[in-house]
Amino acid sequence: MAEGGAFERLEARLFDVIDLHGVSYLLKWDQATYMPPGGAVARARQTALLKTIAHERFVDVEVGRLLERAEREVAHLPVDAFEAAYVRVARRDFDRAVATPAAFTRRFFAHTAKTYQTWTEARPVDDWSRMVPLLETTLELSHELSAFEGPGADHPADPLIARSDHGMTVAALRPLFAALREALVPLVRVAREREPADDAFLRRPTAVAAQVAFARARVASFGYDLQRGRIDPTAHPFAIEFSLDDVRITIRSRADDLRETLFTTFHESGHGMYHQGLDPRFEGTPLADGASAGVHESQSRLWENVVGRSHGFWRGAYPDLRAALPDALHDVPLDTFVAAVNAVRPSPIRTAADELTYDLHVIVRFELELAMLEGRLAVRDLADAWRAAYADVLGVDVETDRDGVLQDVHWFSREIGGAFQGYTIGNLLSVQFFEAACRAHPEIPAEIEAGRYDTLFAWTRQHVHRHGRTYDPVDLIEHVTGGGLDAEPYLAYLRGKFGDAAN
Ligand code: ZN
Repeated sequence: MAEGGAFERLEARLFDVIDLHGVSYLLKWDQATYMPPGGAVARARQTALLKTIAHERFVDVEVGRLLERAEREVAHLPVDAFEAAYVRVARRDFDRAVATPAAFTRRFFAHTAKTYQTWTEARPVDDWSRMVPLLETTLELSHELSAFEGPGADHPADPLIARSDHGMTVAALRPLFAALREALVPLVRVAREREPADDAFLRRPTAVAAQVAFARARVASFGYDLQRGRIDPTAHPFAIEFSLDDVRITIRSRADDLRETLFTTFHESGHGMYHQGLDPRFEGTPLADGASAGVHESQSRLWENVVGRSHGFWRGAYPDLRAALPDALHDVPLDTFVAAVNAVRPSPIRTAADELTYDLHVIVRFELELAMLEGRLAVRDLADAWRAAYADVLGVDVETDRDGVLQDVHWFSREIGGAFQGYTIGNLLSVQFFEAACRAHPEIPAEIEAGRYDTLFAWTRQHVHRHGRTYDPVDLIEHVTGGGLDAEPYLAYLRGKFGDAAN
């Protein structure tokens, strides 16, 4: 195709931009795993330099010209043709990158860097008041960013949501999340009244190396390719890619709580498998990423929760875990273990939340973000609003701001708006996708019980992974499920697991 050759020239230019990002991710991975603390200052400088070079190369006027010509070259192609999808996604990224004046971007990054640094000092000493003036500026800058990236948007959060969850809007998400909240609050209340499952044995000390060996073998059997990936310890787990053939995950372990290793490894392997499963042709292209934050999270939650916390999964996997950790588990029956890893215990901390309460943490944050952006909530009242929301929705007393409004890094390291919805979108989709897979292959649950995951893995690869960013998330969801983002399947799943009938 492309007699004019603009597409090929565009492709060559963007390959370098994407490789520059890959190199900066390598620096980030090293920083979060093995870099000695003394390396921090130079590393921040070097990472910023690479990001600046990548950004400058991307917003170059020549890229704009090539994009225009490439758009004409591919105009006759079907929308899901590689070249057509490439140009469409590159255009979206390019327009966003050039929408924001360089002076604003510098001001924004300088401010968020300072805010993040201050947060790392203020959080341990529970000093919310120190963050208030900084966050007030963040809110102003978030409005400016929104106006640059989505002038005329229906809601100031919409352009910020679109950064990670393209196609999702406040108008669509607010009623969906409100309905989810309405349904979850009574379920949590019922669960609280029950005797919580005994999970004390999960805190018996075990060798981290043995935990990791088990988790590593298990995610390899899920389909995470260790020839094109690796697993390393970190403080805040993540998945990261330097190319399609080097997709790493990082995990967190505790000798006195084996859940950390198990569920961070399962979770991150879902992200890693997504990236490893992209069409090999996407190497060095803007299509080489997940369709959205929410779709990415659907893959991590699928393996962490829908599979990894299910009774069927552990029927197959528990004998191996017990053999790996005999001292801790020799006297623990399967049912006790499964109940323990699903214990419902409302807590002030999102990352410690069980499956039933998790989305309430997300919805509280989503609603507070909207209230701030709509001017209904002043930053100085945020900590109190946080406490009130936790008491109301989760029945939890937030005793310190450290375990309240200061707990998550998001608002203290980036804009306010668009940071949290992807977690809940991912939970909803994890069940919608799993059910679609089981409709196509009813043998999947029995295979999982038998310790085989290849049919489910192959289904995710074919229907989700390989497409990368080819389809807009809304279209991908439609292709895969035959419908839209829907809370009902997820609620039915939670009711089946945690509702009255479950015990
Ligand atoms: Zn995740």
